[in-house]
Amino acid sequence: MSKKQEICRLCQKTAKLAKSHIIPEYFYSEIYKKNHKLFQEFVGEETFKYRKHQKGFKEKLLCFDCEQLLSGYESYVKNHLYGSSSKGLQFDTTNLNEVNGVQLLKIDTIKFRFLLLSILWRASISSLQFFESVKLSDEHEEILRKAILTKSLPAVNLFPCIAYLIKGENTFSTDVITQPQRTSLPTGNSLFNFVFGGFSINFFWTPLPFLFELLFIGNFPKELILTIKDAKSIRMFNETNAKLNMLKKNGEYPEVLLN
Ligand SMILES: [Zn+2]
Repeated sequence: MSKKQEICRLCQKTAKLAKSHIIPEYFYSEIYKKNHKLFQEFVGEETFKYRKHQKGFKEKLLCFDCEQLLSGYESYVKNHLYGSSSKGLQFDTTNLNEVNGVQLLKIDTIKFRFLLLSILWRASISSLQFFESVKLSDEHEEILRKAILTKSLPAVNLFPCIAYLIKGENTFSTDVITQPQRTSLPTGNSLFNFVFGGFSINFFWTPLPFLFELLFIGNFPKELILTIKDAKSIRMFNETNAKLNMLKKNGEYPEVLLN
């Protein structure tokens, strides 16, 4: 057996590293359950291909202790948003209002943001092709690394995170994971967009205009304000669907991922 020692990317101590997920494994559970066992991958503008992933994207990044540190936040979010039975997103719909938004109460948004920023950091340091569009500056990576390690997150407007719930025809689209993309807003801010667990999450690394502050995860410690987006209104979903249908027509792929 190999006794190879490596450097943990979080605590920077020498340790034996285990393969860990960039996006926690439970976000893949709906995909596994429906036996898709694969998800979309964009490579450039024209090429589109599928890869089979039995266990999601993993990479050797963390030592056992750091893996445990992150898994505490992962368990919290899993239990509070998805329940233990993995039936998709579980929350109190009595808070659903008529202006196409939903308010989640009783969730520690600091922990939720911690998990999200740890995913952003992991994706940024990852060498996996799936996360190639996600690259923060060395300085920003280091700010996040220290913040995660010391469990003290930067102010909400330093690394703003905004999440939308993605609604498919009948349910929230928890069975879709897309390759993270970098895009720019008319405000001049750039963002990385991730889709997993029924959420479309925008990560920023520059302060946003005050107007957006209401939507920042962690702005209200116990309240998460989310806007619902129709899957059909999301460009990447439409492109993906069109490409899936084309593959299907060519007999290359028998079923469509999106509901
Ligand atoms: Zn470590």
